[in-house]
Amino acid sequence: MMLFTHDYAEPSQIKTFVHCARSWYIENQLKIRLYNDHVEIGKYEHEHYWRNAVKRKDVYIISDKWKMKGKCDYIIDEHGVQVPVEIKKSRYAGPVPPERDVMQLMAYVVLLEEHFCCTYNHAYMIYTGSKHKCRVLVTEELRSRLKDYLNKIQGSINDGIIPEMKRSEKCFGCQYHDYCWS
Ligand code: SF4
Repeated sequence: MMLFTHDYAEPSQIKTFVHCARSWYIENQLKIRLYNDHVEIGKYEHEHYWRNAVKRKDVYIISDKWKMKGKCDYIIDEHGVQVPVEIKKSRYAGPVPPERDVMQLMAYVVLLEEHFCCTYNHAYMIYTGSKHKCRVLVTEELRSRLKDYLNKIQGSINDGIIPEMKRSEKCFGCQYHDYCWS
């Protein structure tokens, strides 16, 4: 099936899909987008909190290879290498970030690799709530996991079937809770 760039996935979509395929479908296929306080605060934080601390480039990239597109807006200059960064407002402070964050970061990694014709061996997650910077090693396993998720997203677009809801702790605080469980 031929894809147009408006069908290409964005990094934030991948994060949503990893978190819950159903919420991804609600937002991106049904085009219903609700914002709760949690989401609004996260957006504000992303836009403002680290503006003075991390170099902001606003690089917009479209990749035909990965069938992805996105604005890579936070990049750290490390000895002349432009290393991708993803900012989250949460208080996470452990050594291995949640998978959804890592997959979103990997989406920026592969987009910027294509843009800069380079190969990264690491990138960063920054959690503003805990002021924690996490160095994520870029491995072949992560690249392949990203590819799997992109294939699953494409499969979901092609199927046109809304994923079943699965009750879990993720549902508490989810902006689509009432759509699923009322
Ligand atoms: S309420 Fe639960 S199942 Fe429904 S979209 Fe949110 S996380 Fe997914």
